[in-house]
Amino acid sequence: MKETQQLILANMAWAAEQHEFDPEFFTRQMKGQRPEFLWIGCSDSRVAPDQITQAPPGGLYIHRNIANLVHVEDLNLMAVLQFAVETLEVNDIIVCGHYGCTGIIGALDTSATGPISDWLANVRTVHADHRAEIDAMPDRESRVNRLVEYNVRAQLLHLAATPPVAAAFAAGRKLKLHGWVYDLRDGLLKPLMDIDAQSDLDALAKLERVLL
Ligand SMILES: [Zn+2]
Repeated sequence: MKETQQLILANMAWAAEQHEFDPEFFTRQMKGQRPEFLWIGCSDSRVAPDQITQAPPGGLYIHRNIANLVHVEDLNLMAVLQFAVETLEVNDIIVCGHYGCTGIIGALDTSATGPISDWLANVRTVHADHRAEIDAMPDRESRVNRLVEYNVRAQLLHLAATPPVAAAFAAGRKLKLHGWVYDLRDGLLKPLMDIDAQSDLDALAKLERVLL
């Protein structure tokens, strides 16, 4: 059997199970979505937001890219962000990185070329901003994982400076940004940093050496 056919069969089993345990499930889904959270995470197949948080369908609005980057020039993410903040009115946005991130490893690999290398330029900037500390770490795993953490904090600050989030903060919305790291070794999420309308962005950016 082709492996993609297994996906179709698994889907049929899932749909039947959903209907059996909750006959109104699909009727409710048809009425629209009202997720409480926007999740910005890495594309890594091992870090599946719904599964690791046990969120039901409709629980998370999700954007994923390699190394969970936030660029104001990324039209895809900016559209997702605008819709989540202005239309869905989510009150919490999570930027979630993960230890052992292949994207972060790729950014540290100076031989990388092509679109992936171009995409990871911002991670290399984060690395450059903290090079002395990161490069002094004893092994590659430690260097990668420290950069994973600095990257999440930098992306959270980028997120805070985007127009939809800045407008929501200025309007007094109780929007909160959360920077987390997922640990592949034990499946646990680790909170790193929160930002809300009361946060001193300039002070945080100075601390993290991020240019806003
Ligand atoms: Zn990753």
